Amino acid sequence: MTTYKAPVRDINFVINELLDFNAHYQTIPAGAEATPDMVEAITLEAAKFAEEVLSPLNQVGDEQGCQWNDGEVTTPEGFKEAYQMWVEGGWQGLSHPIEYGGQGLPMSMGLIKSELVGTANWSWGMYPGLSLGAMNTLYVHGTEAQKQLYLSKLCEGTWTGTMCLTEAHCGSDLGQMRSKAEPQADGSYKLTGSKIFISAGEHDLAENIIHIVLARTPGAPEGTKGISLFIVPKFNTTEDGTITDRNGVKCGSIEHKMGIHGNATCVINFDDATGYMLGQENEGLNAMFTFMNTARIGTAIQGLAASELAYQNALPYALDRYSMRSLSGVKNPDKAGDAIIHHPDVRRMLLTARAFAEGGRAMIYDAAKYSDRMVQAESQEDRDAAENELGFLTPILKAFLTETGLESASNAMQVFGGHGFIKEHGMEQIYRDARIATMYEGTTGIQAMDLIGRKVVLDGFKLYGGFCKKLYKFGFKNLISGKRRCYSAKLIGYTLAWNWHTVKMVARASRNRDAVGAASFDFLMYSGYLSMAYYWAMMAEVAANKLAEGGEDKAFYEAKLETAEFYFSRLLPRAKGHAGCMNSSTDSVMAMSLDRFTAR
Ligand SMILES: Cc1cc2nc3c(=O)[nH]c(=O)nc-3n(C[C@H](O)[C@H](O)[C@H](O)COP(=O)(O)OP(=O)(O)OC[C@H]3O[C@@H](n4cnc5c(N)ncnc54)[C@H](O)[C@@H]3O)c2cc1C
Repeated sequence: MTTYKAPVRDINFVINELLDFNAHYQTIPAGAEATPDMVEAITLEAAKFAEEVLSPLNQVGDEQGCQWNDGEVTTPEGFKEAYQMWVEGGWQGLSHPIEYGGQGLPMSMGLIKSELVGTANWSWGMYPGLSLGAMNTLYVHGTEAQKQLYLSKLCEGTWTGTMCLTEAHCGSDLGQMRSKAEPQADGSYKLTGSKIFISAGEHDLAENIIHIVLARTPGAPEGTKGISLFIVPKFNTTEDGTITDRNGVKCGSIEHKMGIHGNATCVINFDDATGYMLGQENEGLNAMFTFMNTARIGTAIQGLAASELAYQNALPYALDRYSMRSLSGVKNPDKAGDAIIHHPDVRRMLLTARAFAEGGRAMIYDAAKYSDRMVQAESQEDRDAAENELGFLTPILKAFLTETGLESASNAMQVFGGHGFIKEHGMEQIYRDARIATMYEGTTGIQAMDLIGRKVVLDGFKLYGGFCKKLYKFGFKNLISGKRRCYSAKLIGYTLAWNWHTVKMVARASRNRDAVGAASFDFLMYSGYLSMAYYWAMMAEVAANKLAEGGEDKAFYEAKLETAEFYFSRLLPRAKGHAGCMNSSTDSVMAMSLDRFTAR
């Protein structure tokens, strides 16, 4: 069984010493309440809840899974009680406006909470996690009446939310979606259709479930331009939220799957279900992006969570498992062999997970500042600017951190040798739970196309250019005056190379449209390694300065520097391999004809 200790020291390092959340909070209205004391108190409370309530349920959820019975779903033992504590603690509305029952704190504080909850028990965390996406979508696109009714209940946590996009024949390509919404005389709609893979689609945790559903109105244009968004409650209600009768929504079945067993993945059938349009007709996919972007950052946290949990649980084993002698001399003479942590290859696996966890945390928490700015912006221009910046980072965070999270989980299993494959240690659960993260919320392939296509080329390189400028600015400044000038030099070198590879790829694409798709995965991974290098360079500067000042916590800062050194020496060079692949001929991917694929 895995255990979880919230990495409060590292979170504090990131939010206080690296990113100065306190200064940031002074620039946004919701930040007034987020004093350092308040942030610390909330972090510690969330950490306690994660460690003491959620972590012990992680294995229970995996072993028991959810049970379906005639449309009703029972969650694993203890999930309901934990959810009740969550509601009573007022956690759900932490970062949502006070007028809808929230606590009005910045979005980034919600993110700290999500990391702690998600690492302790990802399956459980998905129930309130999906609600968050529904809440953000309602907040941005809902009418005042919709916000008063639905957002307030979701902020309380007495109702939960879902995201209903996927249908059996389409997940990535939502333009093929078929669910229908017929307008009614009273302004409502009747929805018909079947959605699959709906996370938290049915359960016994809350009084009502608010499905946020994509469907087509009659005569809507084909493809993505004819999709609208609807609120479809499981139970109909009066305007004040009193539950009346059952709506035409039923959970047809739940999936039997590789991991996240504690979270119900549902087939949801809509049979003349009453729904209400959210936002404008035929603009549903755009509105849904609010949800998807929330969910994508949420899924990036799943990658970070996998790296963190993997590292935490592999480390004690590596310290206490004795096998063969260290090549550099005996380390544990009183034992028949040395602890495996003395073997370089075991250290490589541990340090990889640690570097991805700490680097990923810095990346996500910095991105969270953009969500604060987006939500709190006083002008549309500022809102758009923050949303665009976040939009650029989202595919990198989502895809790179979930891919690296999976690698960490795999490495941590490997540290256990054969025992990693055995259920009782819980390491294989980390891997199974993390495996979905590269698939849902847009697969790595889709994120890669989004990055290079929409966020780089179609944007005219503006966001890309702005991001590079940030890296160069940090690099050149610290190349002259920094304490870790070698990292600044590497950062500049890899950014220059990134620019060159991007130009070459775009030039190739002008001759062959498949060049972008063929290079997209490697482009994304290069972008990920480079972005993480920027945060590791920053962290190294902070740690080196702290050590030079000679204060407390020497071991913490020295470990930070050693992990930074590992990142720059052992992980960042992988980007060169990705550059090599991305620059190779498109034909090596596309030349094989379909009949030769099968000729073997
Ligand atoms: C456990 C679980 C929970 C989920 N939760 C939800 C949920 O709450 N709500 C919801 O609506 N959905 C949910 N999903 C669905 C999930 O988001 C989709 O499965 C995912 O988006 C991929 O869609 P698909 O399965 O149809 O794959 P497809 O779209 O068929 O893709 C198959 C493969 O083709 C690749 N591909 C497709 N098009 C392209 C392209 N243009 N370029 C390059 N590669 C391409 C993909 O990357 C993938 O590798 C969940 C799925 C699972 C398994």
